[in-house]
Amino acid sequence: MRAMVLDAPGQPLRASELPEPEPGPGQVALEVLACGVCRTDLHIFDGELSEPKLPLVLGHQIVARVAGGGERFAPGQRVGVPWLGWTDGNCRYCRSGRENLCDRALFTGYDLDGGYAEYAVADERYCLSLPESYKDLQVAPLLCAGLIGYRTLRFAGDAERIGIYGFGAAAHIICQVAVHQGRRVFAFTRADDEAAQAFALELGAEWAGDALGPAPEELDAALVFAPAGELVPAALRAMAKGGSVVCGGIHMSDIPAMPYELLWGERVLRSVANLTRADAEEFLAIAPKVRVRTHVEAFELERANDALARVREGSLRGAAVVVP
Ligand SMILES: [Zn+2]
Ligand SMILES: [Zn+2]
Repeated sequence: MRAMVLDAPGQPLRASELPEPEPGPGQVALEVLACGVCRTDLHIFDGELSEPKLPLVLGHQIVARVAGGGERFAPGQRVGVPWLGWTDGNCRYCRSGRENLCDRALFTGYDLDGGYAEYAVADERYCLSLPESYKDLQVAPLLCAGLIGYRTLRFAGDAERIGIYGFGAAAHIICQVAVHQGRRVFAFTRADDEAAQAFALELGAEWAGDALGPAPEELDAALVFAPAGELVPAALRAMAKGGSVVCGGIHMSDIPAMPYELLWGERVLRSVANLTRADAEEFLAIAPKVRVRTHVEAFELERANDALARVREGSLRGAAVVVP
């Protein structure tokens, strides 16, 4: 099969011919229809997440057709494969409904080969049924940008005024959900990124502007999707008392030193790690009701390096998806 392979961090993905993977017990064989590109892929590519299996097929927003194997899905059924690929089911985290924190979790496109390929295998217990109203390309970004973004939004509680920092794949989905829930959304981008600001306003944000400048008013929560540590004190500075800053990314540059008064007043700073299957089921049921529309740019599989470069530049409107 054709696949794009990471041999070592920092090297371009290599177009390769690999043997088709064989499903083991409890696994399904999958024909990949599309695979979303996530910023996490870039962090793995750059070596910022430092323990990938190598060589590795990246990609953890896999939309696929079941070709065989397992018992849970019929051949031909369309499924999604997210970042959470396996957990032990018996550590203290798994036993308390927090499988996203499992000590022994295996992640798709990191510990396990992912979807930048024609075929893949996955543990059927972690595969997701996908809403039928979405086409293959459009559903792909829901599988990480959407559902980890949704977990991030949930930690904002019932905050009315929400700041979204970084307006990429996750933000463009979660902005729509937050507006649908009746919240007021403020989009914070690089000062000169007029395209992202215009995109945010189109999707229902009531204000868009410079992430490092003053907020137009106090906010009740901030969702930080951009991997830039300097956004954390900036977001805290925008918080009303009791407000929460929730960091949705898996990696971030160092957070600069900041005075305690930014956190004082019962402000909260927290991260979101990974996802649970319950998150995925909840979000994939909500997305069609909200009528979340995803904006995608498709790249042929062999152009996966270009797709990663575009995520790095922040020049995509929405999300990148590779198509084998
Ligand atoms: Zn991801
Ligand atoms: Zn566990």
